[in-house]
Amino acid sequence: MIDIHNYDHNNIFAKILRNQIPSKKVFENDAVYAFKDINPQAPVHVVIIPKKEFCSLNDFSSNASDETIITLIRSIRKIAEILKLNDGYRIISNVGKTGGQEVPHFHIHMLGGMQLGKIIGS
Ligand code: AMP
Repeated sequence: MIDIHNYDHNNIFAKILRNQIPSKKVFENDAVYAFKDINPQAPVHVVIIPKKEFCSLNDFSSNASDETIITLIRSIRKIAEILKLNDGYRIISNVGKTGGQEVPHFHIHMLGGMQLGKIIGS
């Protein structure tokens, strides 16, 4: 079962940040890395992550510096610009087992490139 209380240094996104497994970079700055999701759920599907280690949105919002939080939030708009999502997009962050989180490194999904339906799947 996913553990969002103790950071797993060997999770997939930690390995991507260490360049131990490849990723398709979309954007990067000092605090943030964004790359294409390997199993896209829309024509545009990007994963946005902090470079520092946080298990989930809860951990990030509690323990990241204000500067890191601001940088990540501001990165979202820059990434949308890079991806030319001029008509809009959706961001999602799954938290924990009930939220459907699979990778225990905080991430935001950015979806776009088509008209999206209702937010909640099953
Ligand atoms: P979540 O269910 O919110 O934890 O989302 C994890 C996401 O990571 C899923 O959308 C996966 O398709 C994606 N993913 C898993 N492994 C990789 C990888 N190696 N490169 C890019 N995306 C990945």
